[in-house]
Amino acid sequence: MFKSKTSKIAGVLLLSASMLLSACGKEEKKETAGTATAKNALEQIKADGKIVIGVKYDTRLFGLKNPSSGEVEGFDIDISKQLAKDILGDEKKVEFKEVTSKTRIPMLNNGDIDAIVATMTISEERKKEVDFSDVYFDAGQSLLVKKGSSIKGLEDLKKGTKVLAVKGSTSAINIREKAPETTVLEFENYTEAFTALKSGQGDALTTDDSILYGMVDQDANYQLVGGTFTEEPYGIAVKKGNKELVDAINSALKKMKDNGKYDEIHKKWIKSN
Ligand code: GLU
Repeated sequence: MFKSKTSKIAGVLLLSASMLLSACGKEEKKETAGTATAKNALEQIKADGKIVIGVKYDTRLFGLKNPSSGEVEGFDIDISKQLAKDILGDEKKVEFKEVTSKTRIPMLNNGDIDAIVATMTISEERKKEVDFSDVYFDAGQSLLVKKGSSIKGLEDLKKGTKVLAVKGSTSAINIREKAPETTVLEFENYTEAFTALKSGQGDALTTDDSILYGMVDQDANYQLVGGTFTEEPYGIAVKKGNKELVDAINSALKKMKDNGKYDEIHKKWIKSN
């Protein structure tokens, strides 16, 4: 059965009117974001009823997408869920987006995500671009090699040795300072870097011990050597100037530490200490 011509026209008119209205609504939201009465980041998150967090999808133990469930899992994921629980009353009110070491700050500053919980070291350089929470995890940079490798520590990274690192990481910067003679090859993410190590494109892979333990978990033919040679305190980053959000995150972190939830998450994912 076909509708009459007039009801068809009325339908089209109604549709156009509602499209126009929703377009106006979007415009309005955009405008208020730029005015003095705009909501601060925390108020906006509460109004949206969700917090969008940038996490790693390829970093075992911290943020790894489980291909069978499609869910991301790890220490950073559980910390993020607790943030949502504390700020929005429900740990499900978090949306995850994948970041890499290179994309996380641009994605935050573009407004794609509200916060970064992604193995990110608090550094003076980065403080120029983003604001950080209190430290929520302590890592340190180390080296991963194939068992039996002649590389036992930093002192073995000589001229001609190839060390693999990830773009946008503090590890890539630090290694050039600590082993200036060595050749550093940079990859987009940790999956690519580890694959390159396994296929013999490099002699060692360098990043935080915490991330390297995840690789050993995946392939026991590899091991950490030489201990740690930097301090990598992890912080949660938000766009600069969002004091209310940083305060809310710090208060959530404090609560997690006080009520034992932090220790529970730590125990679940971090086996080394
Ligand atoms: N924590 C270091 C950093 O923030 C290395 C881990 C990473 O690349 O995310 O750069």
